[in-house]
Amino acid sequence: MLKILVSLLLILDLKAFTLNYSNEAHFQVDEVTIDVAGNSCATAGYNSAAELLDAAFEAANEFWNRVPTCALKLKKGSVRSSVDISSDSLGAAIAKANTNTILIGCSDNSSIFSAGILGVANINANNQNQAAVLINNVDTSFANLDAREKLATIAHEMGHALGVGHSSDPVALMYASVGGKVQEKLTMDDYNACTYLYPHDSPGSCSAVPFIGKSPKGPQDPNNFIGKSKNTEEKSNANWPFNIFFGFAIIVLIFGLKRDRFYRL
Ligand SMILES: [Zn+2]
Repeated sequence: MLKILVSLLLILDLKAFTLNYSNEAHFQVDEVTIDVAGNSCATAGYNSAAELLDAAFEAANEFWNRVPTCALKLKKGSVRSSVDISSDSLGAAIAKANTNTILIGCSDNSSIFSAGILGVANINANNQNQAAVLINNVDTSFANLDAREKLATIAHEMGHALGVGHSSDPVALMYASVGGKVQEKLTMDDYNACTYLYPHDSPGSCSAVPFIGKSPKGPQDPNNFIGKSKNTEEKSNANWPFNIFFGFAIIVLIFGLKRDRFYRL
């Protein structure tokens, strides 16, 4: 009995993703490009913008590009040599992103990066086709991470750029803090966020979905497929041995619970 109660409590302790904005802002296309700004990333630990682009694309492939239920596809773009976001606010950096692109770059803006902040990111909630990720290039907080932590941090900020907010699930990539955990992959909560914002297209309209199952009179009338077919009724009538077994199992379960109540608690 105690085990059943604990299981129920665990099921009820639900964790869930959030979104950046109440209007559920996210890219309006499934293919989103990753570009990198041309300014220096030396303090953050990258020798060139091209090295940061490689790291960003690796983070995309290790995390967001491998969710089968999510239609999102992050593509590798290019280094925009003439673009400098080193002193920009996050909003100003977002405005420099190309259409349907996440612009990633290192920031020397000390008003953004203090107290160990590793990165910040967001999407334009109005046009929903530009986003930016800023990496801490003010101090060595980011540079001191190991390679795996750097990828997870970039992937976390990419999540914000895609429209995903923080999760209350401590094992999720989108949990607010990466401190003290090894984030090798996304969790189911991250999967759900990606799938919610970037679902696959429906395979067809309702009327185009074929009725599954044999009909005694040939093809099922597509205008009446919601109703029970004669074939379905025949099949349910044939289930009586299973129904008797299922009823018997319910009686045994109730008897077991009552016995627990009387003798164990
Ligand atoms: Zn965050």
